[in-house]
Amino acid sequence: MITDTHAHVTREEFGADREQVFDRAAAAGVTRIVLVGTELESSRAAFECARGRAGVHPTAGVHPHDSAATGAAERAAIEELCARPECVAVGETGLDWFKHYAPREAQLASFRWQLRLARELDKPVIVHCRDAHADVLALLGEVPGLRGVMHCYSMGAEELPGYLALGFCISFSGVVTYPKNERNREAARAVPEELLLVETDCPFLAPQGLRGQRNEPAFVRETLAQLAVLRGKSLEELARATSANAARLFGFESA
Ligand SMILES: [Zn+2]
Ligand SMILES: [Zn+2]
Repeated sequence: MITDTHAHVTREEFGADREQVFDRAAAAGVTRIVLVGTELESSRAAFECARGRAGVHPTAGVHPHDSAATGAAERAAIEELCARPECVAVGETGLDWFKHYAPREAQLASFRWQLRLARELDKPVIVHCRDAHADVLALLGEVPGLRGVMHCYSMGAEELPGYLALGFCISFSGVVTYPKNERNREAARAVPEELLLVETDCPFLAPQGLRGQRNEPAFVRETLAQLAVLRGKSLEELARATSANAARLFGFESA
């Protein structure tokens, strides 16, 4: 079993062939998928899409890009979704100082709100971090007892220790397959096996062999294959380990 811990299959890029995308994932052994919400509408869509679909699990949250546009009523609706038993995580949330689509204060407030929500609900938090390492780590440190995942980890080995000390999982995406990303590959070698996860972040960031195409959960195999080479393991061993880690983090019944 392979687990794609971060997919946006509810997006319009999949509007024409969503069923086939899930079929291809299953055929590739990707039988567990976390469908990640980025604001209220996509969070609702994740719940809708996951309903009745074995192995597909929704989350609800507000992406840093959407933090300024999300008002109090929408936050209340997100909280209600997060509290549902089928919701496996809060997020994605985090900080994005690269694109800066939302002002700093709005991103910080939204991130703090979701970190506290995750702690209150005792659910993991899915963290997006772009050019915001120091601030992300500082805010994570404000909420003792948090657990979660650094999604689409794109940094190097030197930024890892703070997240590992918090017991956070580190999830690698197609970025680890890109020729220029030796720093990211160093990080992929350094993460302890019990904290290692893999994801597509589809429709974005297709792995190198499929670069330029729309990404989809089936393609997570190529990222896993790269991780296997980097760590001197078989793809099967790492599929097992990362699925077991995902099961532990998100509370799936078994690996
Ligand atoms: Zn993200
Ligand atoms: Zn995402």
